[in-house]
Amino acid sequence: MADLGGRVDVGREEPPVRVTVVTMLPDRRLLLVHAHPDDESIGTGSTMAHYAAQGAHVTLVTCTLGEEGEVHVPALSQLVAAEADQLGGYRIAELAAACAALGVGDHRFLGGAGRYRDSGMMGLATNEHPRAFWQADLDEAAGHLVEIMREVRPQVLVTYDPNGFYGHPDHIQAHRVAMRAVEVAAAEGCAPLKVYWTAMPLSVLEAGMTQFAESSDNPFGGIEDIADLPFGTPDADIAAQIDGTDQHLAKEAAMRAHATQIPANSWLYAIAGNFGGEFMGVEYFTLAVGEKGPGAGPYGWEDDLFAGLPEETGPDRSPVAAAGLR
Ligand SMILES: [Zn+2]
Repeated sequence: MADLGGRVDVGREEPPVRVTVVTMLPDRRLLLVHAHPDDESIGTGSTMAHYAAQGAHVTLVTCTLGEEGEVHVPALSQLVAAEADQLGGYRIAELAAACAALGVGDHRFLGGAGRYRDSGMMGLATNEHPRAFWQADLDEAAGHLVEIMREVRPQVLVTYDPNGFYGHPDHIQAHRVAMRAVEVAAAEGCAPLKVYWTAMPLSVLEAGMTQFAESSDNPFGGIEDIADLPFGTPDADIAAQIDGTDQHLAKEAAMRAHATQIPANSWLYAIAGNFGGEFMGVEYFTLAVGEKGPGAGPYGWEDDLFAGLPEETGPDRSPVAAAGLR
């Protein structure tokens, strides 16, 4: 707990009064574990901005620097791994700008920036790199995350499902590390009460295929059956729908901050322009750990990841307790 206090003299005759300002964490604390810079914005940007805007403490943990990404900015093309291998460092700044756009001030890299390297797509030689996240020792990596849980005491954790949403080795590993950390943290009483996995309801994919069929930027072009997609969850298995429609511009700004990764002419932006905030702003989750709170609609989807949780479930963070003065 940081002591930001100092001494303030109030008048010559009076004894000095010591004023201590104690850093307090907000009552609601959300932790997100993502694989690469840009995953947070594309997958959960609206949710992050939604909770940050509400005053919740949002902590983002990114597991790698995304060294193996492509580069869509011609002037920066030589940063790629096969040439200067400087992309990871560059993406630290992109991620910082994205977090600023989302209103998220607490961002860390798992084990520190550069501890784990982007493993590249499944089956590539880059999977074998000694620092590849895919090769990470699960307990060591989870240990870094448990440290953050001890400090922040998040009630809610968001990460990927066992397939890493779409099968990328670093996403699968992020899932494994996050779930292992929850297990370890549970044993010492600092585990999140709810764990969610990112998801895309089949009904949304079906509606998207119809809606975008006429669009020149159809992201489903070439796909005849949604069963061919590497993701998609039956609606009955979805637990929460977070409506961050009012934050879709923050999400779009965050995505644009990842300029090396998402081309300025991406279909994502074209569709966002054509179909308004709902496409960008609404995000879905399945519940992996914890009790589902009250919800609405045919499947009782929650509209809040903190639904059903007690008001404050963390440690006593009142100024008195935090200053050790009780
Ligand atoms: Zn990724």
